[in-house]
Amino acid sequence: MRFVHETLCQRVVFAPGSAAEAVHDEVGSSRVMLIGTRLDVPAVLRWDEVVMHVPVAVAERARAAAAARQVEVIVSVGGGSATGLAKAVALTTGLPVVAVPTTYAGSEATNVWGLTANGRKTTGTDPRVLPRTVVYDATLTATLPTELAVASGLNALAHCVDSLWAPRADPINAALAGEGIRALMAALPDDREQMFYGTYLAAVAFASAGSGLHHKICHVLGGMFGLPHAQTHAVVLPHVLALNAPGAGGRITLDELQDLRRRVDAPRALRDYGFEEDQIPAAVEAILPVVPDNNPVPVNAGNLKQLLHDAWEGTR
Ligand code: NAD
Repeated sequence: MRFVHETLCQRVVFAPGSAAEAVHDEVGSSRVMLIGTRLDVPAVLRWDEVVMHVPVAVAERARAAAAARQVEVIVSVGGGSATGLAKAVALTTGLPVVAVPTTYAGSEATNVWGLTANGRKTTGTDPRVLPRTVVYDATLTATLPTELAVASGLNALAHCVDSLWAPRADPINAALAGEGIRALMAALPDDREQMFYGTYLAAVAFASAGSGLHHKICHVLGGMFGLPHAQTHAVVLPHVLALNAPGAGGRITLDELQDLRRRVDAPRALRDYGFEEDQIPAAVEAILPVVPDNNPVPVNAGNLKQLLHDAWEGTR
């Protein structure tokens, strides 16, 4: 074995039914900026303006407000969009973040930030944006509609599966991904505490292994065509697994994934989410240059076009 594995440093608190108390333990008497959903914690600033993919203008308003109120710690409560805004503020201010996720997007366990300007999303990594603490309280997902819970859960599963062949894939993140796959497949969609357990493993595996073919495809589809994040991941995953099956190391098969997708009535086709067939060539052109060199199967314009066509159409 020859590899280098990096483990990111953060506290993880599982506190079913008691997120507010757990957050209070983390922040003490600091001056809190609370981003997203209300939580019963004292705050000097409450910030409700949360927009998917974090527009730069929103981030700048939030940063200015944090400076004006002399904020000392940011608490984000919500999905990947709320966590993303907290990260954007942390990126320029260095303020610590306590993340309280309410979806299975997994941003809370990565050092990846994303910002959007003029319809283009830029991402990067920076240690300042990694939340200092994550608080998981499964009761906060009670309001998550089943349809979104399914799509978001499959987004978490995609973190695991893509980690198996991503650029920095190694035996440690594969072990995390394998246990994440097991937990998520058993828990989807209703065992929300186990969902968070699988979500965290998935996100840690993804943060370590980096973006594989699946994430490269979804990043282009989300950024260029404005497709919804979780649903796009949910639709594209079986098509990438079908192509990359030799790289899955037996940790998940296409049949197992398809059985799960039938059981939970998973999102099926990109055309249901606004993707048009005539956009496929532009997507192929944008994805090809960013396909990771170590992808287990050679990717070319032909098989990529077929993959996107199948995902657009919802071919089983
Ligand atoms: P989201 O945060 O936009 O949430 C989707 C919708 O669900 C929103 O309308 C939100 O208000 C609602 N919602 C969230 N939690 C809810 C709850 N418990 N009950 C009812 N409604 C709820 O979507 P997402 O899929 O969680 O996150 C997507 C964003 O996160 C994208 O911008 C994506 O790029 C980013 N992301 C970043 C990383 C990273 O590592 N940086 C990882 C994953 C996702």
